[in-house]
Amino acid sequence: MTIYNFSAGPAVLPKEVLQQAQAEMMDWNGSGMSVMEMSHRGKEFMGIAAQAEADLRELMGIPANYKVLFLQGGASQQFAMIPMNLLRGKTTADYLNTGEWSKKAISEAKKFGAVNVVTTSADKNFSYVPEFSTWKCDPNAAYLHFTPNETIGGVEFDWLPTTDVPLVADMSSCILSRPVDVSKYGLIYAGAQKNIGPAGLTIVIVREDLIGQTVAGTPTMLDYKTHADNDSMYNTPPTYGIYIAGLVFQLLKRKGGIAAMEQTNIAKANLLYAAIDGSNGFYNCPTALENRSRMNIPFTLKDSGLDGAFVKQAEAAGLLQLKGHRSVGGMRASIYNAMPLEGVQALVTFMQAFAAQHA
Ligand SMILES: *Cc1c(COP(=O)(O)O)cnc(C)c1O
Repeated sequence: MTIYNFSAGPAVLPKEVLQQAQAEMMDWNGSGMSVMEMSHRGKEFMGIAAQAEADLRELMGIPANYKVLFLQGGASQQFAMIPMNLLRGKTTADYLNTGEWSKKAISEAKKFGAVNVVTTSADKNFSYVPEFSTWKCDPNAAYLHFTPNETIGGVEFDWLPTTDVPLVADMSSCILSRPVDVSKYGLIYAGAQKNIGPAGLTIVIVREDLIGQTVAGTPTMLDYKTHADNDSMYNTPPTYGIYIAGLVFQLLKRKGGIAAMEQTNIAKANLLYAAIDGSNGFYNCPTALENRSRMNIPFTLKDSGLDGAFVKQAEAAGLLQLKGHRSVGGMRASIYNAMPLEGVQALVTFMQAFAAQHA
């Protein structure tokens, strides 16, 4: 039986990448060592890291005046590093509050300055993004932080607010899923474990002029300058995670890059939303139409008493980790880049059979 893993993260990785890692496990490229055993300062690993960075730069079209940092601590550590590094003498930052991850970023930022919440979708259980014309931005804010894809609520938006302050985006669950114009952002960050590679690696893409003006008392390890000045090798970086991420980047390049991934992601999401919408109300997606995520698709069953049976039977059919987050209820299918179209087809077939059985 083919297994499809719909976990929100750590999430499915491309089979080809896992097979290549398996083949290279004991002896990377004739070095006689596993990548896990290599010095991060040796020529082999330095080459792996440099190639991974070059490939990510090519895939995303990252301009030369941006640094790419390979860090640890997860996206959650960025919730603190961002205000510590980007307040730059200012006292306020703008934050959008569109869900669980926005909320966490906001509460951490409040430890370092005033947070101006420009808008919130709390009135409808974080199921939409309020129109830009209603946002209350502060022209003196140090930056504007937002979460373009809220992983838990399944709320995504692709337009950018018009503002003169640097844009800071938590792309943990949507990086590499669609093209973005990096030059429009001050900083982009993502934990790797959703759409890039294994947990333990965090990627930060930051415009150079925003680096080097930390708040007093910022620890060395939480200063972007430390990592920028040392090519992410100030201390031991997450070497194996960087290696796997590098294999994913090479695979994406072979598959036609981010624009090609976007086409597949659109096809996958359309297929699943069509199954939900075409179920005569048996399934329901709580997200506003215009903010439906392509990556994380929450759906509820009309009769929540069937949730347990759905999860159990789905597992028996090889469809894993579909239980939704407790704040939304129901199910959630995460269909990142590494989820093949066949996986979504299998899920849709199962959903239709389950609905027919319980109609
Ligand atoms: C998963 C996730 C996080 C938290 O990531 P960690 O690496 O576990 O800290 C933050 N933001 C978003 C949007 C996420 O999806």
